[in-house]
Amino acid sequence: MHPKSGGIMEHAGKHALVTGGGSGIGKDIAIALAQAGAEVTITGRRAETLGAVAAEHPRLHAQVMDVDDENSVRDGIAAAAVARGPIRICVANAGIAEGGPFEETSLAAWRKIMTTNLDGVFLTFQAALASLDAETQARMIVISSIAGVRGLKNAIPYAVSKHGVIGLIRGLSEEYMRRPITFNALCPGYVETDIVRNQLPGLMKRFDVDEDGARALIAKGNRHQKLLEVDEITAAAIWLCSDGARSVNGQTTEISGGQV
Ligand code: NDP
Repeated sequence: MHPKSGGIMEHAGKHALVTGGGSGIGKDIAIALAQAGAEVTITGRRAETLGAVAAEHPRLHAQVMDVDDENSVRDGIAAAAVARGPIRICVANAGIAEGGPFEETSLAAWRKIMTTNLDGVFLTFQAALASLDAETQARMIVISSIAGVRGLKNAIPYAVSKHGVIGLIRGLSEEYMRRPITFNALCPGYVETDIVRNQLPGLMKRFDVDEDGARALIAKGNRHQKLLEVDEITAAAIWLCSDGARSVNGQTTEISGGQV
């Protein structure tokens, strides 16, 4: 039993969709939702990775879906809804992180980040909302970042994309005020996942440190100077999906060991 799934089947029978559910934060949230009773569609581009994760729990269902591709998102979410019902919980988690100095950032690199991190969330939420009728309760969550609430050097497109999704949930929380749907963002600091692990070799070379030294350099970006673990993000996501959070709407929750 996932330690954050609460041990009760609060989400029994609900269909949840987690983009990027084959790894890192998305995988952990997906497993917790499945253990809380939800039928969880996990999406991503890598069929083999998704299949291996789906094999970990009978309520996890793999669906190849590229959030960079409009048809893939619309068709993928529509197919999942036909198979398992309206999307009652939608976690728009798929994202990429690439950095570099602003003056060296090409328009193509800028657009790539926006396509995945911002347009991908727009498409995911729009397709998930299309699966719902006016009475159905739902929770929409996006994984933003501390880069969604403050600037980060050498990560301008990433920060802009993560600020953008906060604008999206704030706007949607107003537009859907009469519907039983909430829209919220989680803003983690640095979490020990592939996004962080992929940065280690470059830091080791640049600062002539070993792997632990490189990890410590990244951890300095969190206020308590520790890397976060995925279950800390999952705990907040599970709370946002709980009945007790039904009036929490249009909010951002920072998870970064201190004030951002
Ligand atoms: P991972 O790299 O493990 O997860 C990213 C996921 O996104 C992968 O499963 C990947 O699946 C999926 N993905 C990427 N591009 C696409 C695409 N075009 N279409 C569909 N799926 C895609 O890293 P994390 O778990 O850390 O990242 C999850 C989210 O958390 C991201 O939005 C990230 O920005 C955010 N975040 C992460 C932080 C961290 O420190 N780790 C801090 C703050 C926020 P596949 O490759 O199979 O397509």
